[in-house]
Amino acid sequence: MRKSVVAIVGRPNVGKSTIFNRLVGERISIVEDIPGVTRDRIYAQGEWLNTTFNIIDTGGIEIGDEPLLVQMREQAQVAIDEADVIIFMVNGRDGITGADDEVAKILYKSNKPVVLAVNKVDNPEMRENIYEFYSLGFGEPFPISGTHGLGLGDMLDAVVSHFPEKSFEEEDDLTIRFSLIGRPNVGKSSLVNALLGQERVIVSDIAGTTRDAIDTPFKKEDRDFVIIDTAGMRKKGKIYETTEKYSILRALKAIERSDVVLALIDAEEGIIEQDKKIAGYAHEAGKAVIIVVNKWDTVETDEKTMKEFEQKVRAHFQYLDYAPIVFLSAKTKKRIHTLLPQVLKASENHAKRVQTNVLNEVIMDALAMNPAPTVKGQRLKVFYAAQVSVKPPSFVVFVNEPELVHFSYERFLENRIREAFGFEGTPIKIFARKRN
Ligand code: GDP
Ligand code: GDP
Repeated sequence: MRKSVVAIVGRPNVGKSTIFNRLVGERISIVEDIPGVTRDRIYAQGEWLNTTFNIIDTGGIEIGDEPLLVQMREQAQVAIDEADVIIFMVNGRDGITGADDEVAKILYKSNKPVVLAVNKVDNPEMRENIYEFYSLGFGEPFPISGTHGLGLGDMLDAVVSHFPEKSFEEEDDLTIRFSLIGRPNVGKSSLVNALLGQERVIVSDIAGTTRDAIDTPFKKEDRDFVIIDTAGMRKKGKIYETTEKYSILRALKAIERSDVVLALIDAEEGIIEQDKKIAGYAHEAGKAVIIVVNKWDTVETDEKTMKEFEQKVRAHFQYLDYAPIVFLSAKTKKRIHTLLPQVLKASENHAKRVQTNVLNEVIMDALAMNPAPTVKGQRLKVFYAAQVSVKPPSFVVFVNEPELVHFSYERFLENRIREAFGFEGTPIKIFARKRN
């Protein structure tokens, strides 16, 4: 099920990143008095009344040296393009400014629901100030204070009330959704085209009936796949689409909606820091991951080359030790037929459930083979394990004292589980819980 997306727009310094931080619950973007200060992160998850959603702080998308007004227009456009609900933020201490009117004009023209938030209403006396904001034309203004955390509940109730109804189409579990991520020019669009141009792939012509017309459904050997568009695959046009923050945002959004993520590497150029960062997002999101080494046609190969390249990949992407590596060329289409079977396998493992009794046998055997170490005179006791969820497969291990489960022991258990059940392509999670 796709999470709803909320975007915050408004002119600089009204308090967008302050509210973003509040809603996300961690201090992840930098708040400073300087307008337009660089933000670390502009896309994160928030939660309200059992509903999780994603938030975009559009103020974090800075568009080069463009004048303020252009920046604001582009940011409003990002919100319109990417969000289900828009929080339009103004400053209750300043009244309505010309810049607010500009943003309002753009938001009117969209069909997206807008919730008007009047920030910096730090005390009840200041609530008088909010009435003039009715004239912006977005209905009831919600007074809030980012600094004091006031009024956020009412504002969020309004936001959540506009979330789209759950759609059945997206709950269909048999369709395998995957995306391609990687730095510019690594070959994402070429690989998509190569996959879709492949024999026996039937591209559905109902594209455009889905919510996101840029997702491409196709069938291969009776399995339904959907390629989810990532930044860089769409035709670039609008100014903001060329900014780095925006392309990361699109990649994160695509990852979010995927079961399997293909992390592309350029064999010609080798592995760079940015590759690791991008692949790291997929891992953190708990998605199945396949490492695709593209442009393999540019490499002079002998019997050792692939092995050597593989070792290099493993050394750079240690946290992705579960990810299979596929070598191919989007250009010559060599080995391209090896990709979809891996996608299928990874997605099956990502959704795999194991039997509780077999799981416990595996864990107990592991304990017998390698008893947990004693820490400060206390020995870890493992009572019972259960798989609590899929996508990714997650396990709870009930123990006498969770703090005794050190990283290395957790790793050992993970390896035993992997050996027994074969979770190739997917991360798995293990949580230690105290047995009551
Ligand atoms: P942005 O540019 O819209 O993202 O604004 P920031 O979140 O960076 O906030 C700009 C300034 O306003 C910072 O100095 C914040 O501390 C301050 N600020 C944010 N929210 C409030 C609030 O509710 N009340 C007051 N008094 N100041 C606030
Ligand atoms: P994107 O920015 O990641 O979507 O990358 P593109 O698909 O636009 O490809 C960037 C460039 O790399 C283009 O000039 C492609 O022709 C080239 N390219 C893509 N795949 C391959 C490949 O497998 N081998 C070679 N030699 N070039 C490729």
